[in-house]
Amino acid sequence: MSILPLTTRIDANLGYACNNDCLFCYFKERKRTRNSISTQQAKRLFSRIKRLGIETLEITGGEVTIRDDIIELIAFAKRDLRFKKITVITNGSRFCDEEFTASASAAGVDDVLISLHGSSARLHDKLVGRGGAYDNAVEAINNVIRAGISCRTNTVVTAYNYREASNIAALIYSLGVRKVNYIYFSPLDDAANVETDLWVRYSDTASHIRAMLSLYKDKFKAISIKVFPFCLLGGYEEYITNFFQNIYDPYEWDFYNRVRIRRNMLQRDLAVAAGLLLFMDIRRILQIGFRKSCYESIVRVQSFRECVKAHVCRRCKYDYICPGIWKSYAQRFGMNELNPVLGKKIKDLDFCLRKRFSDYPIEPYA
Ligand code: SF4
Repeated sequence: MSILPLTTRIDANLGYACNNDCLFCYFKERKRTRNSISTQQAKRLFSRIKRLGIETLEITGGEVTIRDDIIELIAFAKRDLRFKKITVITNGSRFCDEEFTASASAAGVDDVLISLHGSSARLHDKLVGRGGAYDNAVEAINNVIRAGISCRTNTVVTAYNYREASNIAALIYSLGVRKVNYIYFSPLDDAANVETDLWVRYSDTASHIRAMLSLYKDKFKAISIKVFPFCLLGGYEEYITNFFQNIYDPYEWDFYNRVRIRRNMLQRDLAVAAGLLLFMDIRRILQIGFRKSCYESIVRVQSFRECVKAHVCRRCKYDYICPGIWKSYAQRFGMNELNPVLGKKIKDLDFCLRKRFSDYPIEPYA
């Protein structure tokens, strides 16, 4: 039975305006065509999220720190709405300014999630399409840590940087960060149509991720490898967070309420109903209860839309807890790399996560 609590963290997207031009951006087109939301709309969004019982707010975009009202919004979320934790997701281009970092800290930010995609300026700046971006990100990490704010990093793994997995970890570790995410390139939204070839095979990436994990798993407090098949990282399954694990990973977003916020309650409830009818086993619903079943049903519907599995997956012990691989990846590379792991079928979506989060909820996850 799934024993980890459901995550109570959610993202508030304030719009797509950004001063970077990342090769793998999900929102390339939307950046050009959509305005960011106003201060009042942002405050209404935060209030709505709070009313849903969410405790941790992740403010994201686009690049939210280029907004003139960002400090006001952080203060509103912390002081007026009393969110327990506030994260800002950023490329570091304002946190590299010590004064800005001090203002954000005074306003109530608890945690800053900074993108770092290369261990050199040449590589990082190329991937994010802006000269000076690497220096900004490194300086931002220094400032955030000096200010006593929790600092985490996101690294998107592509054909350009997968061989750098350990070098990036070495850099991040040397800067004092202890919580890192490696996110396998996801061909979603506008990233599905990027001109540059960012794809790399899971099987080519796996040896580099393994090497990084074996060197750094005991050094970092938290490492998350996102959207990667369990069968290709044998021995390191506890570090993987896939679609199905998102809802039990305290660093991930509440996809159940996220659908309600981004679409509406009716669409969420229809998705839940479809998931319960099509994918959920009645015995599991009775075991884990209705609330967790609703969450699991939502992620099963989402994975049904985006992911695909091979016939061999039916023999794999991770079959019930693995969403498979991106459909577009399978179209491009096929599914021959997948290699079922034999054994008793695991049914609890949080099974592998339990080891990683054995101290949860004691550890105050920022
Ligand atoms: S279910 Fe399929 S993709 Fe998932 S770990 Fe098993 S073989 Fe790999």
